[in-house]
Amino acid sequence: MNVVNPATGAQIETYNEHDADDVEAALGRSVRAFEDWRTRPLRDRERLLANAADVLRENKREYAETMTREMGKPISQAIGEVEKCAWVCDHYAEHASAYLEADHHPSPPGSAVKTEYEPLGPVLAVMPWNFPFWQVFRFAAPYLTAGNVGILKHASNVPGCALAIEEVFREAGYPDDVFQSLLIPSDLVDGLLTDDRVRAATLTGSGPAGRAVAASAGEQLKKTVLELGGSDPFLVLDDADVSAAAETGAWARNLNGGQSCIAAKRFVVHTDVYDAFLDALVDEIDALVVGDPTDEATDVGPQAREDLMESLHEQVTASVDAGATLVTGGEPLDRAGAFYPPTVLTDVPDGCPVDTEETFGPVATVYEVDDEEAAIATANDTEFGLGASVWTEDRDRGERVASRIDAGCVYVNQLVKSDPRVPFGGVKDSGYGRELSEAGIKEFVNRKTVWVE
Ligand code: NDP
Repeated sequence: MNVVNPATGAQIETYNEHDADDVEAALGRSVRAFEDWRTRPLRDRERLLANAADVLRENKREYAETMTREMGKPISQAIGEVEKCAWVCDHYAEHASAYLEADHHPSPPGSAVKTEYEPLGPVLAVMPWNFPFWQVFRFAAPYLTAGNVGILKHASNVPGCALAIEEVFREAGYPDDVFQSLLIPSDLVDGLLTDDRVRAATLTGSGPAGRAVAASAGEQLKKTVLELGGSDPFLVLDDADVSAAAETGAWARNLNGGQSCIAAKRFVVHTDVYDAFLDALVDEIDALVVGDPTDEATDVGPQAREDLMESLHEQVTASVDAGATLVTGGEPLDRAGAFYPPTVLTDVPDGCPVDTEETFGPVATVYEVDDEEAAIATANDTEFGLGASVWTEDRDRGERVASRIDAGCVYVNQLVKSDPRVPFGGVKDSGYGRELSEAGIKEFVNRKTVWVE
């Protein structure tokens, strides 16, 4: 696997891929590790997870630099990502016992009935490059603590991150092979899914990858959790605090170079505040510092790969050709590396690429609507259903609008985020299942009913 630094275009590292024999050996080790790991007291598994949080905090700069080198995340955001991983470890270290406590049910006199939560076995995680630490810890912290063992197939452009994460668990004192990273291309994933030893799979990534994994796992009757793309609406109603909405909106669109499933992608703005909001949004976006991701002051680094930037640019040019108005940005920067400027499009025609497809980069579309009903209809006019943000000074109105949006989560007067304490996931083409919180740790367990007479 060749790693290219997207900020320079230079190839910086080469890793040997694992082959089919390595995968076979890893699976054998995984099953053996599971037999011991599942019997460990939950308290021990929680304690090890707390150690993992410590390891993350101790080495946060080193891990952040690996991310920045491999996928171009601005260093300050990369450090924040490692800290967030430590937080999810802390969260499950503290709460897993309560989440997994057996449920006792009403039962006839003389009998006792409960549901226990038992691990399933080796879980395969197919993960993306955009939050190369966070996406992995979001699955590993709960699922390992529930007693499963993990096999990670990370995105091919972040092998250094994959190995660093394996190191976190080793340094934290986890038994060998409870967590393994396989450096494999995606065409070896199917062999893992069809192997009886793999008991479940989780994927974060694009729709096509999710469909491929779900189809194969479904054929084998294995459970999957899919966290796919999004085209999140950001609704600015007529009574919104326009400057707060613009400030948060600019950040919600451009954080991580816009390469986030829950980024605000479609700004749906009431006509009464449209001009004021658009001006404020463009001012905020034009003020973002684009450049070297190793510089602490940088807000927006390069796109993670040249090909991804090219696809994004094709979406923009095809949409402009179809009649969209380019307000700012819209051309790759004339410098080495995969730099795309924060971009704003208005007058977006129905059905053009930026209207119907996910834009996985710093490209905002702004729609003008006449009233609340039209705002809700535009927000829901997408195949995706991950998150949404609603801006209004009336909290009751915010809740009312939230209840009508087809999404896995709606944040009122706040950007959409994933937080260890609350369930995270989507509906429609954004996937299914939930990560994080109690819902997340219960995705890959056997809910075993035990009736004692
Ligand atoms: P992919 O979905 O292709 O990659 C995500 C992960 O899935 C990687 O580990 C990849 O491996 C793997 N993968 C890809 N195809 C298959 C397959 N058929 N079977 C099994 N595993 C597979 O994303 P890309 O990197 O190509 O990005 C393309 C687009 O996907 C983005 O522009 C964005 O729209 C979306 N995306 C969404 C993410 C999210 O957070 N929801 C995250 C990343 C991307 P490998 O790297 O080896 O190909």
